[in-house]
Amino acid sequence: MSAITENLRTLLDEMDGKATLIAVSKTKPEEDILEAYNAGQRVFGENKVQEMSSKYENLPKDIEWHLIGHLQTNKVKYIASFVSLIHSVDSLRLLQEIDKQGKKNNRVIPCLLQVHVAMEETKFGLSAEEVEALLHAPAFSSLANISIKGLMGMATNTHDAGTVRNEFRGLKKLFDKLKQDFPGFEVLSMGMTSDYTIAMEEGSTHVRIGSAIFGGR
Ligand SMILES: *Cc1c(COP(=O)(O)O)cnc(C)c1O
Repeated sequence: MSAITENLRTLLDEMDGKATLIAVSKTKPEEDILEAYNAGQRVFGENKVQEMSSKYENLPKDIEWHLIGHLQTNKVKYIASFVSLIHSVDSLRLLQEIDKQGKKNNRVIPCLLQVHVAMEETKFGLSAEEVEALLHAPAFSSLANISIKGLMGMATNTHDAGTVRNEFRGLKKLFDKLKQDFPGFEVLSMGMTSDYTIAMEEGSTHVRIGSAIFGGR
């Protein structure tokens, strides 16, 4: 058995069906994706529009492609026809563009709002207050070709498990609160190779894992 297949099986075994695994294949060649595909994996995450588009063109059409990286407004049109879930929505303007491209493609595009939960300054995302403001903005309610499915967040890149756990817990709390007003909320995307165990303990529904499957980048 090859390393990718073995890694994938170990991971799925450990996850025990408690969350959906998004195999993060950014920078990895199509052969690697096919190997995971042949082992049964169907959901893949990419962080760049161009890379995701060309992999979409070349690989089996029953793959679900998730965009997990920062998305520029002018690039939405390249993925609007096929993307399964955009994890990284961080402004109303971006959401309006996704809605416009959804309309053009005659589909509703599932999205997550990216929340800034980490102490680190470099990460993209909205604050909890900004998330609430966006969801209650009059301009938001008129968007018919997007559907907000939940939240995505990244914890601080630290060995301090307590910090990571607190950040995930805060995100889950916000998620639960919003879910009361927005019943469509069903996805809480948190956890990567270094912290998915903690994320799952704190209520993650979708983990985004790259290195633990495909090796380092
Ligand atoms: C790269 C990336 C991941 C996966 O990271 P690993 O440490 O390789 O598991 C998860 N989420 C986002 C947003 C990423 O950019």
